[in-house]
Amino acid sequence: MTDNVTPLYLSTTQAAEASQRHRETVADALRSGELHGFQRSAGSNWRIDPDCLKAWVEKRACKHGFPQPKSVTKAAA
Ligand SMILES: [Zn+2]
Repeated sequence: MTDNVTPLYLSTTQAAEASQRHRETVADALRSGELHGFQRSAGSNWRIDPDCLKAWVEKRACKHGFPQPKSVTKAAA
């Protein structure tokens, strides 16, 4: 019963495992703003909302509106 607790946020490692991506891929996406995440302070560990991770995997904007439209359109033309 005590295992039935859904963590509010995932770490970078947990997000990588959950999304089947490499940890560095997740870290890069966090740094670039492609994947929405939270940091308590600059350089501290990332916290990722599972819903935001799911949106990133599905290449959709998350419920918070990330990534912002301006960062989506910067792909090489
Ligand atoms: Zn989000």
